Amino acid sequence: MNTSIYNYMSKTTASIHIQPTIENDELAKLLGGQKKKSLPKSIRKKVRTARQKLNKLVKPSLHYRIVKPSAMDNDVVQLDEAIEFTSAKLAKTLKNAEEIVCFVGTIGTGVENEVNRLLGKQKLADAYILDAMASVAVENMIDRFQNLMEIRFSAEDRTVTLRFSPGYCDWPVSQQKKLFNIFNPKQLNVELLDSCLMKPRKSVSGVFGITPQGSESYNPCRDCPTRRCESRRN
Ligand code: SF4
Repeated sequence: MNTSIYNYMSKTTASIHIQPTIENDELAKLLGGQKKKSLPKSIRKKVRTARQKLNKLVKPSLHYRIVKPSAMDNDVVQLDEAIEFTSAKLAKTLKNAEEIVCFVGTIGTGVENEVNRLLGKQKLADAYILDAMASVAVENMIDRFQNLMEIRFSAEDRTVTLRFSPGYCDWPVSQQKKLFNIFNPKQLNVELLDSCLMKPRKSVSGVFGITPQGSESYNPCRDCPTRRCESRRN
């Protein structure tokens, strides 16, 4: 095994328990409305049932490591001689980062097993709603993790950058493998498949930087001409 990778893997991975919550407005957007109120009554009833189910099925697990970048140039973020991320937009976002938080989180397999069961029984609407709620839940867990980190580092007069995941914007999804190399796979409750998709499906991986308070915060979407991008952040 390459020594530098071994060094990373021999370090301890931290974990944190965050029970996700379902934000109604986010859910309504996924289900085609603007606010929860605007959803039809029959859907609101299904959402209530799915919410109870979800609370029992979600098994949150979130692991992270805080690593120092060893080099940074216009389109590469190097964490170690063997681990470098290639993305111009990520590199510019992390330009002032003193440290980088790398994370992998999941809400487990329970929800997707239930979605598959509902699909098998032709309960398509129930399956769709539960699946949408699980997507909101896993994003909520990661948002709250990032908020907690922001609070933690504000005590040191530092803040966090925007978050990136492999496959987002110009960061190739294939670099998911490099991100997973930072962790000891035995410590994660997420498996990386050859396709670079994660198992369980409702998992999120990514990075964000820790920068000194007041340093320039870059959002690549602000000067991007791709107007129709679904991932746009303003
Ligand atoms: S709008 Fe889309 S393509 Fe443009 S920078 Fe943002 S995420 Fe990337």
